[in-house]
Amino acid sequence: MRIDMDLYEEAFESIRSGNKRIEMRLNDEKRQKIQVNDLIFFHNVRNEYDVLRCKVTSLKTYKDFFELYEHYDKETIGYRKEENADPADMYEYYSEEKIETYGALAIGIEYIDDLYLADGHMHLEYGPLSTDYVMEFVEEGIRKGLDEINILDHSHRFKEFECCYEHLKVYEEQKNWLSKETKFCNTLDDYYRLIGDVKKKDLPIRVKFGLEVCYTSDTEELLKKILKDVHLDFLTGAVHSVDHILYDMSFSEKLLWDRKDPSYIYQRYYEEILSLIVSGLFDRLAHPDQIKLFDIDPGRDLSLTYEKIADALKEKDMYGENNTGIHYRYGHKDIGICEKMLETFRNKDVKLICASDAHKPSDVGTDIYIAALRNKGRR
Ligand SMILES: [Zn+2]
Ligand SMILES: [Zn+2]
Repeated sequence: MRIDMDLYEEAFESIRSGNKRIEMRLNDEKRQKIQVNDLIFFHNVRNEYDVLRCKVTSLKTYKDFFELYEHYDKETIGYRKEENADPADMYEYYSEEKIETYGALAIGIEYIDDLYLADGHMHLEYGPLSTDYVMEFVEEGIRKGLDEINILDHSHRFKEFECCYEHLKVYEEQKNWLSKETKFCNTLDDYYRLIGDVKKKDLPIRVKFGLEVCYTSDTEELLKKILKDVHLDFLTGAVHSVDHILYDMSFSEKLLWDRKDPSYIYQRYYEEILSLIVSGLFDRLAHPDQIKLFDIDPGRDLSLTYEKIADALKEKDMYGENNTGIHYRYGHKDIGICEKMLETFRNKDVKLICASDAHKPSDVGTDIYIAALRNKGRR
């Protein structure tokens, strides 16, 4: 069985360092199902994608935490050498009545690794909103050895967001693109129904649902009104256009790249990225340096821009995506965000999540292992 638990940073680091080898919990119905050899994923409360994979090595039950504390030295249960181990500390987490009803559980744990493989970005865009189709993504995730997948269809799938795309329709090519059958073809209620059905299933990997919302500073107010009623696991904000011209389509060369100076395009792109972050509407920033997809020279040094973005992400406590999509979908040499930006994010302690941007099940998890290693500076 897979178990997910949240941990405060101090306890989390104590497991990573090998000191803490017992996790203490209330022995309630949920924990009674835990068995030796199960996997526990401990998520750092500060960053849920900072995860320690551990194996359950033993399970011992006690009448209460006073009895439990008698059996272990304080460092094994997570205290520092200079700290006083007091069983009453557990009242911070569990009430006396609950402890009396269920008793205490000492879970023996062996730390395995800290490489949690999550693919935070994939689309059902070219298929139906059906459980069977979601299961194709889940099965591919399992095949690729992932621990978690996140599905996030574009806002342009849903009727509720159609009003945010009027600016794009000024250009015939974009108007045609937006009138395709995959655009505005469902409502958010259709999506919620699907999510409800999938969440009823007991799946071996964690599956979350969100949206990839096309952001522009001109539609921010509209988005604010729509998003206040949207309740999903997470919201990812993305910049897909510069001055209302899409930069990543087959017609983008004609409408944008041939008409405007690359230096201006990059500048406007990053201004919009900053504005997206500052808006506070999103939990994650999609593909932060995707404007590089055609490998056109920005004609400017972007180091300071990367620093500003990192500071803003940190300030808003948002995740930055390390998205591998343009490597395998557009042939860009970088497997994910460029080294300079990634290094800046790491140095400024920005939370990172890996993303494949899969648009079909077979692309789920593409280059995620490499991206996960890069996020940790191990490659
Ligand atoms: Zn995108
Ligand atoms: Zn995407």
